[in-house]
Amino acid sequence: MSNKYAQELIEFLDKSPSPFHVIANMEKELSENGFHPLCENEKWDLKQGEGYYVTRNSSSIIAFIIPKEGFNGFQIMASHSDSPALKIKTNPEIVTENSYVTLNVEKYGGLICSTWFDRPLSVAGRVMVRNNSKVEERLIDIDKDLLILPNLAIHMNRDVNDGYKYNAQKDMLPLLSMGGKDVKFKEIVAEYLGVTENEILSMDLQCYNREGGRIWGLNDEFVSSRRLDDLECAYSSLRGILAAGKSKNAAVHCVFDNEEVGSGTKQGAAGDFLKATLSRINAAMGNTEADLYRYISNSFMISADNAHALHPNYKEKADPTNSVIINKGIVVKHSANQKYTTDAVSQAVLETVCKKAEVPTQNFLNRSDILGGSTLGNISTSQVSLKTVDIGLAQLAMHSSYETAGTADVEYLIRTAETFFNSTINFSNNNFEVL
Ligand code: ZN
Repeated sequence: MSNKYAQELIEFLDKSPSPFHVIANMEKELSENGFHPLCENEKWDLKQGEGYYVTRNSSSIIAFIIPKEGFNGFQIMASHSDSPALKIKTNPEIVTENSYVTLNVEKYGGLICSTWFDRPLSVAGRVMVRNNSKVEERLIDIDKDLLILPNLAIHMNRDVNDGYKYNAQKDMLPLLSMGGKDVKFKEIVAEYLGVTENEILSMDLQCYNREGGRIWGLNDEFVSSRRLDDLECAYSSLRGILAAGKSKNAAVHCVFDNEEVGSGTKQGAAGDFLKATLSRINAAMGNTEADLYRYISNSFMISADNAHALHPNYKEKADPTNSVIINKGIVVKHSANQKYTTDAVSQAVLETVCKKAEVPTQNFLNRSDILGGSTLGNISTSQVSLKTVDIGLAQLAMHSSYETAGTADVEYLIRTAETFFNSTINFSNNNFEVL
């Protein structure tokens, strides 16, 4: 296998330091490939045989293709645009000894604190800017080594290698400057955007690791980058919808924000973005609400979010019979308490699609004495209840500021997404065929 797919993933990751950049980059790709933009606050006039996309909060996106001859269901692939990070608070400057300027930040999601230390960081996100009588949303990526979060020397913290509990308000404030009280963070942002400080009304900004994506290892087996969870899946899903068009069902690519903090926002998987979009597609086709429920019962969702690979140094943390290995294919995630949606029916659908794509699969379960994480599949089905499978790619160091996965797996998931979106799945209760 070549590393072409992993290289292309890195290109996408390197230009996507915040959820807002992820969505802007997806909009650009979709529009360049003939998909039409829609706004939620406008009337939708949809045509069969065309592709469309709509965003919410500029941090979630749904793209879809309506087949030429109507459709019998939706084939959906969902992932998330956010990753754990340090978010910049308002009034962030903290001046020490009239010279050091550190930034006041707070944790977003469950990050591994130690991975943010002693490496160049910068800041990206969105800013609301006044422009005469209007207010505009502007993206910003300060493309410069702007911050570092320095460790305390071991001489002053002798126990650091015996385990250390990080205090987010004390330990995690990155260093910006030696300029003292004259340094104003808002001024830096204003200058970067080419506006005045007074024109900036508000900001949603986060720190990101400046280290770009890398392919590495003796045989180039590994790909490492910031935000692999879950942009590896989001990017693969995008590639799938861009290659779609042959299914008799509507192909739907969804990327939601705020998975790392529970999904309970208007742009998260617990919001009504997907439900509203499917309803509006249905109405635009002249169908009734009863038709929509008929289609939903014939629909299928792949909830794609990365999974924990067996770590060679911590073999005992993996389930004794269901551990997963990097570059061994699509990970199907199971959980008896339904933190993952996979059941026998949805796994059978996924296995059939993967077989068609000639892609290997493997099974993940947590050890019975480890709680594990959750994802967006079960949350999304509380809004739109349909057959769903939870999958992902095997990765190490989940929620580190620099995560590691396998180069071959990138190709496996892209091929799976392309095959899924180009197949037609027909259900009769729990019996089905994949054409
Ligand atoms: Zn995730």
